[in-house]
Amino acid sequence: PLPRVALVGRPNVGKSTLLNRLCGSRVAIVEPTAGVTRDRIAVAARLSVKEGERWVEVIDTGGLGIVDRDDLGPHVEAQVDVAFKGADLVLFVVDVRDGVTPPDQMVANLLRGSKMPVLLVVNKAEGGGFDWEVETFHKLGVGGDPIVISAQNGEGLQDLRQQIIDQL
Ligand code: GDP
Ligand code: MG
Repeated sequence: PLPRVALVGRPNVGKSTLLNRLCGSRVAIVEPTAGVTRDRIAVAARLSVKEGERWVEVIDTGGLGIVDRDDLGPHVEAQVDVAFKGADLVLFVVDVRDGVTPPDQMVANLLRGSKMPVLLVVNKAEGGGFDWEVETFHKLGVGGDPIVISAQNGEGLQDLRQQIIDQL
């Protein structure tokens, strides 16, 4: 079986966009409204880097659980639960423009202390210039150095692919 990489994070941070970017085709539904990915989607992706390539299965957990904007707890718990049961690596996705939000903290609390390897992916950073904002994500205390990307235009994706491969 392929190594499994699970995308975890509160609604609207760009998990489905990142899945599409990693897989090179439009397989996940991306909507401007929070919480519209309805299905758990798992797709094989070929990660090409300088020194070769690696196939992985990318799982978008964003469709799990009930998305209640006032109480995202059950939703993020369902994501992390599936990630813990079936994944080899978690990509914890956050939104640089929103900074650290309470649901991000909730996800971090669930991930922290587990043995699951986690990469912290800071999305929506196209154009750069977000150094200060990126620093604030260290306080989540999980995932090591933030990997700064734009799922929308592909910035930082080579670095992310490489770091995924290095973790597996
Ligand atoms: P999900 O709920 O985490 O799966 O998020 P989506 O992938 O559905 O994206 C939510 C919204 O954020 C959509 O309007 C996307 O177009 C937008 N989005 C996703 N990635 C980026 C990005 O890198 N930059 C910007 N500016 N917007 C993004
Ligand atoms: Mg989604």
